[in-house]
Amino acid sequence: MEVFCFPGLEPDKERLVLTGPVVRHIARATRHRALDRVLITDGKGSELEVELVRVLKSRIDARVLARKVGPREPRHRLGIAQAILKGDKLAKVVEGVTELGAAEFIPVWTRRVVGRLSPLRLERLRKVAMAGVESSARSVVPRIAEPVDITGLLSRMRDYERTLVAYEGEQGNGIDGLLAPNGDSVLVVVGPEGGFEDFEVARLRAAGAHCFSLGPRRLRAETAAVVAAALCLHELGDLG
Ligand code: SAH
Repeated sequence: MEVFCFPGLEPDKERLVLTGPVVRHIARATRHRALDRVLITDGKGSELEVELVRVLKSRIDARVLARKVGPREPRHRLGIAQAILKGDKLAKVVEGVTELGAAEFIPVWTRRVVGRLSPLRLERLRKVAMAGVESSARSVVPRIAEPVDITGLLSRMRDYERTLVAYEGEQGNGIDGLLAPNGDSVLVVVGPEGGFEDFEVARLRAAGAHCFSLGPRRLRAETAAVVAAALCLHELGDLG
């Protein structure tokens, strides 16, 4: 069943009046009509199975048939702290890690960042996250945090049980054993196109982060982020 995201949804109501851009999408681009059943989510964990009662161009009336809380959400909270990348690459990372099940995406300014992150681009990342939730049938939209520098990242580390840094200079030590299966949250840090400066890695390590390698080949940052997210969720038992 298709999933549509309505952030303003009041999930406790029996009858819903839906409005906004997603309604226009449903009314125009999909062929849904009255009596069809779809899933809708508030992006905060609630998932409702609804029957469409009336489909107009800018308004849908729906009747709630069933309610669930995060039926396909990972049990563990995965955060991705990604150094800001050029062009559309951050959107690619957000799309991939959202589909995998990330709970939060934190853009990071590191010394070698050459990309830019305007408020407009940040807003676009939020839209990409919402689209990723719909396409992967999730019910939680990952939080797109305001960008932080390394000092800000050190304090954000406290919100996670463990921080792992995908470090191109870490030879031979993979992710195996770095995640306790009964831990509940992990933050993965990935560098920019030009990689990390040694002092940045030293500061992260001093704050308790663990570095790991993704193998002897050099991956593009956006590949590394998605691979690292998948490995973490796999280690935690949240994939497959
Ligand atoms: N310019 C750097 C590579 C940076 S790759 C160099 O020449 O070495 C961009 C980011 O992707 C890195 O900072 C790291 O976070 C991640 N990454 C890429 N390949 C990796 C690997 N083999 N192991 C761990 N992290 C990797």
